[in-house]
Amino acid sequence: MKAMVVPKWGEKSVLMSRPDPKPSSREAVMKVRAAGVGLTLLNMRTGSFGGEVPRIMGHELAGDIVEVGSDVTELKVGDRCAVYFYLTCGRCRYCRGGRETLCEAFKGHVGVHRDGGFAEYVSLPVENFLHIPSGLSYEAAAMATDAVNTNWHCMKERARVNPHDHVLLIGAGGGVGIHGVQVAKAFGARVIAMDVSDEKLALASEWGADEVINVKKEADLVAAVKRLTDGRGVDAAIDYVGHAETFQVAYDSLSTSGRAVVIGVGKGSIQVPTRHLILSEKTITGSRHSTRTELIETLEVMARGVVKPVIGMRTHFTEIESIFESILDEKLLGRGALTYD
Ligand SMILES: [Zn+2]
Repeated sequence: MKAMVVPKWGEKSVLMSRPDPKPSSREAVMKVRAAGVGLTLLNMRTGSFGGEVPRIMGHELAGDIVEVGSDVTELKVGDRCAVYFYLTCGRCRYCRGGRETLCEAFKGHVGVHRDGGFAEYVSLPVENFLHIPSGLSYEAAAMATDAVNTNWHCMKERARVNPHDHVLLIGAGGGVGIHGVQVAKAFGARVIAMDVSDEKLALASEWGADEVINVKKEADLVAAVKRLTDGRGVDAAIDYVGHAETFQVAYDSLSTSGRAVVIGVGKGSIQVPTRHLILSEKTITGSRHSTRTELIETLEVMARGVVKPVIGMRTHFTEIESIFESILDEKLLGRGALTYD
C-alpha cells in the first residue's frame, strides 16, 4: 500500500510503499476514506509524545472495514467506521468508570505509538472503531474524532456549559476552537470569541460567535470581557492556546463560580490567590480529549447537522506536507482534510 512515513521524529513524512496490514485476532483493517489534519500532528511529529520511528501518523480517521481478525464479532466487512484516538486498557478504574482518557495503563495514541491512517489501510484494535451514523460523510466523521469530540467533552463535562452561560473561547479561530464555537452554541451558550486576527474572528462569527475580541486591538482583555457581560465576567472560559498569558486571562475573566478550562498545551503557569478561590468558588481544570461515549454522541449530533466540519484546505493524503506548511505559515483557517481516492 501507499503510506506517508515519518522516517525520524522531527522530519517530514515521505511517500513509501509498505506491506498491507494484517489484523491480529482482535483487530480490524480499515480502508481509509477521509482524515483530518491539525496542529496536534505537528506537535506529535517533533517526538514530544514518544513512540517509535519510522511511523505512519494519522488519527483523525474514517473509512470502511475491509478485514476482521479471527476473534472479532463486533464488526464486519463493509462497516463504515470512525477511529478513536486513544489506546486504552479497558479494565482500569478510569476505563470502567467512563473516564478512559485518564487510563492508568495508557498505551498511547493512534499514529504515534502504533501506525495510523496516513496510508491506504490501517489495522487497529476492534475497540478503536466506532460506527458512523447513516447520512454522515466520512470527512465529517473524521473531524468528529478529535476536532469536535474534544469540545464535546469539554463543554459537557469540564466546563458544564448551560444555556444561560456566557462562554469565552480563547483561540476560537483555530482548528479545534472553531468547532468549539459551534459546540458551545449547541449547548445554548452566548459565545465570546477571542483570537489574534480579524480573519479568524470573522470565521468565528460566521460559525455562531455572538461577540468577538481581537487580542491585537484590545489593551485590556479582561476589561473587554467584563464590558461584554455587564461587568459580571463569563461563566466558563476555554483556553485553546494554554500559555500562561492566555490562561491568566481565562481565569481573570470568570464570574463568581466560573470555570476556567485549558485544552491547548502551552507553556507556563498562572497565579491564583487562594483566598479569592475560596470566596468565589471558581474552578480551574483541564480537559483531555473525549471518551468513546462522547465520540458516539458527537457523531450523532454531527449526523443531525448541529455541528458541521470547518474545512480550510483539502488535498490528497500523499500531499499532506502542503497542509503542514499552511499550518506553520498560520494560513490554515479551520481544519485540513485529506482525500484518498
Ligand atoms: Zn484503563
